Amino acid sequence: MCGIIGYLGKKPIVPVLLEGLKRLEYRGYDSAGIVTLSNGKINLVKQAGKISNLESLLAERPINGVAGIAHTRWATHGVPNSTNAHPHTDCGNKFALIHNGIIENFGAIKTDLISKGHEFKTQTDTEALVHLIEEFYKHHMPFEEAVRAALLQVEGTYGIAVVCSDEPDVIIAARKGSPLVVGHGDGENFVASDVSAIIDHTKQVSYLDDDEMAVVRRNGIEVKTISNLPVQKQVEQVAFELGRIEKGGYDHFMLKEIMEQPSTIKDAMRGRLIKDEGIARLGGMHEVMEALLNAKRFLITACGTSWHAALIGEYMLEEFVRVPVEVEYASEFRYRDPVIEENNVVIVISQSGETADTLAALREAKRKGASVIGICNVVGSTIARDVHAGAYLHAGPEIGVASTKAFTSQVTLLALITLFLARHRNMSAAKGAEIVQEMAALPEKVEKILGLREQIKKIAQLYHMSNNFLYLGRGYNFPVALEGALKLKEISYIHAEGYPAAEMKHGPIALIDENMPVVFIATKDSTYEKIVSNIEEVRARRGKVIAIATEGDEEIGKRADHVIYIPQTQQMLQPILTIIPLQLLAYYIAIMRNCDVDQPRNLAKSVTVE
Ligand code: GLU
Repeated sequence: MCGIIGYLGKKPIVPVLLEGLKRLEYRGYDSAGIVTLSNGKINLVKQAGKISNLESLLAERPINGVAGIAHTRWATHGVPNSTNAHPHTDCGNKFALIHNGIIENFGAIKTDLISKGHEFKTQTDTEALVHLIEEFYKHHMPFEEAVRAALLQVEGTYGIAVVCSDEPDVIIAARKGSPLVVGHGDGENFVASDVSAIIDHTKQVSYLDDDEMAVVRRNGIEVKTISNLPVQKQVEQVAFELGRIEKGGYDHFMLKEIMEQPSTIKDAMRGRLIKDEGIARLGGMHEVMEALLNAKRFLITACGTSWHAALIGEYMLEEFVRVPVEVEYASEFRYRDPVIEENNVVIVISQSGETADTLAALREAKRKGASVIGICNVVGSTIARDVHAGAYLHAGPEIGVASTKAFTSQVTLLALITLFLARHRNMSAAKGAEIVQEMAALPEKVEKILGLREQIKKIAQLYHMSNNFLYLGRGYNFPVALEGALKLKEISYIHAEGYPAAEMKHGPIALIDENMPVVFIATKDSTYEKIVSNIEEVRARRGKVIAIATEGDEEIGKRADHVIYIPQTQQMLQPILTIIPLQLLAYYIAIMRNCDVDQPRNLAKSVTVE
């Protein structure tokens, strides 16, 4: 969510900053801005809307300089217009600051500063911080000291970069709660909220931790804590290629990512399945092995799509490991004072590894003494570094804001964890081997479902003007119903709801008429007969039935208006297959409604505010 990039060096500054911002575009934003320093002055250009709007404005009002910072904003305080876009400046136009996060006590700071004569130009929380720095600087504190003093007064979360026209050779960056990385170049240095912004220029990076501040100069980067203690930072080598975040011939990142799933699911399992023993290997879990094996209860906490994956994990773990599992929204978990007892293991799931609520939940769980394991995609992300142990999805960067490949990889990892634990408890080698075999066959089955694109497109054509959709499933496919509905509403803005199919009679059935498409996930499994009855109930009320069914099931064909047939698999692995047609359905419907599928309105990719 929101992007930060800063550059100090000899390259033409505006292209470096704009290219960096574009690499962060996927995170979601509503306005963009840039500041450069030249001749003791700050040059500020900012604009509402896409980065291309900012580029047009820069073409009319070109700027240059040797140091600069740029930002994409995802508004939390104040409407997303050009005035509220970052960078923000002080009264004397000496400082420019960009910020990701929320200054929670900005109201009190602002009132105090107004009484001291400061004039505010925007509705943002961020602006208070830049005036506060100005206030300290006016009282003869050096730039670095002024930033430090201001940050010590701030409550909330921030990743910031700030420049001062009196010191054109310095960018100060600091972090508390929002990700920030510094890049070490040759005669040039960088700061960014995400390595993808700077990977074109350097692969040598250091990740800032909370309460750390970096003083970035052309010839070196010094990291200290905000309270001014020295910090020894490791320089790490980033190991991903830019090619992996380009569209690879598809019209949208989302479609590319849906189509990649045969290989991302394979990557999630790579080296983790042991065929002969019918078990999974979990390399990164050594630190918590004992806690995992002795766990008396699991708590899984996450947000959004990851929360849906967590629900599937609950079904898997309870069925095969036979320990109680609770799934909770991270935003609730963190404030609710949850009961965590000895022998409880907490699992946190986040694609970005930066989700603010999930991170806070993880810290709360640690504080309460739980062993915490993480399932993340972004390597080196805050959650990945904060947990006791964990496993990466290895799905490659997910750029489309609506998560697709990360979801199937998360479910794959939960299946691996289940298999691992169940085999250490009472699952037989034969059953383990069966699951291993079925898991290994998943990529090919997903490939087959992806081949149904044309059929799914035709269904999308018939229903893309609908105002509502209902998604129904049972058992393992209930969370898939939730996820299918979420995909549709996220990218097409059609109101969609997911329910456990039996719940339909307790309310949603009132909505059904000839204009209501109802998507049933009706695969051959232990609840099949029940869901067939639910289909009849919808038909009796003239609802339109789109069914996801198991290959060869002719009965469903007679009852539904449309059937998408998918291959058979183990019940617990079904979500990995049944979600694929729902992702494609949402994608095609959104395209037909001319929606921006990769950057849906109001949404951000990595939700770093609570
Ligand atoms: N809270 C700040 C604002 O609304 C920063 C938002 C962001 O993280 O982009 O301007």
